[in-house]
Amino acid sequence: MYNGLLVKYGEIAIKGNNRHQFENLLIHNIKEKLAQYGTYKVSKEQGRLLVEPECGASVEEIIAPLQKVFGIIGLCPASVFTDNSLESICAHTVAHLKEVYGENAPQMTFKVEGRRADKKYPLNSLQIAAEVGGKVLEAFPEWKVDLHHPQVVIWTELRNRVYVFSKIIPGVGGMPVSSSNKAALLLSGGIDSPVAGWMIAKRGVELCAVYFHAHPYTTDRAKDKVIELARRVSEYSGRIRLYIVPFTDIQLDIYDQCPQDQLTIIMRRIMMRIAEKIAEKEGAIALVTGENLGQVASQTLQSLYCTNEVCTMPVFRPLIGFDKQEIIEIAQRIDTYETSILPYEDCCTIFVAKHPETKPKLSNIVKSEEHLTDIENAIQKAVDESEIVKLNLGKVIKGEEA
Ligand code: ATP
Ligand code: MG
Repeated sequence: MYNGLLVKYGEIAIKGNNRHQFENLLIHNIKEKLAQYGTYKVSKEQGRLLVEPECGASVEEIIAPLQKVFGIIGLCPASVFTDNSLESICAHTVAHLKEVYGENAPQMTFKVEGRRADKKYPLNSLQIAAEVGGKVLEAFPEWKVDLHHPQVVIWTELRNRVYVFSKIIPGVGGMPVSSSNKAALLLSGGIDSPVAGWMIAKRGVELCAVYFHAHPYTTDRAKDKVIELARRVSEYSGRIRLYIVPFTDIQLDIYDQCPQDQLTIIMRRIMMRIAEKIAEKEGAIALVTGENLGQVASQTLQSLYCTNEVCTMPVFRPLIGFDKQEIIEIAQRIDTYETSILPYEDCCTIFVAKHPETKPKLSNIVKSEEHLTDIENAIQKAVDESEIVKLNLGKVIKGEEA
């Protein structure tokens, strides 16, 4: 059995003086993630981390969950032991390989990479590699050494303990999510916004989320779909407080008072104003949307200009330069796609004009908005009457836990 998991982190390692902070944050996030899987010890181990199962917990079980922790670039299931005699290293390495590739592993090419931190160790790195390689060939007579393009690299690293591993499973990369950076994600039921939120979270930003719900024009199924999307994003991003904003009154008012071709743009401006108020309440300092240039009438450059004009916080639109197919590929990879394509209506599609303005003029929009009924109050009311759903690491949190 593997008894350890080496965790490699990329960008953190080059962060100079901040490095400890980043390492500690990553350790904290890993511990939170692993809490539901059993007891694990997480320690710093010279430029990487070591996760060791305790009380019968398993290494295999936590690989997939750790592939959803931002900041990790590689995971190496390892055999970790203290006896650094050559005999012990060889025996552990052969046992490790039998475990990973089976007693009767098929023919493979390999090389051994020896490393030693202790320069007083009687053998140098090359000698260690040669000795271990010899024993591997005895145990697997079919295998062949290939120093240039091996199918398997077997690492034997002598540090304060000995680490043997032969697989580097890719992590998701990015930076560990920190609660001291927060942004508010406008989360619809579509394909784009969950991906946009995921991308910002990947840069270490905690999310809260805002969904505009036009009950009964949008049903509970549409709402549940958005909760499910937030839940899936939270597998990566950790804590998310999702605000479900009652939007029907405002939307009907826009519909009644404003020109048809401006409905979408006015609606989007008000969404931004509400999202900003919620962001303030949540201690978030930026907004995130799934907007993308040119896909629909509300996303021409002129429309984005008019929408953006009501915002005082920075608005991040990480998908702005992506093609739809590229967005879909990420959605599939992060497992939000299947939920996003469920066919429930959303408030934009219900109240959409037949011929929305693609080149709205800001002054006209502002003039039309004057017809709205006490919009300041309506916005505040929508914020105050929002329902909050709390999510953390793939779970909906009930009651006061969150
Ligand atoms: P998505 O796939 O994210 O729904 P889209 O291509 O359908 O995006 P729009 O419907 O124009 O584009 O929405 C653009 C962005 O506005 C969304 O990505 C989202 O950030 C925000 N948004 C739209 N509708 C809602 C809503 N009902 N609740 C919250 N945010 C919304
Ligand atoms: Mg949409």
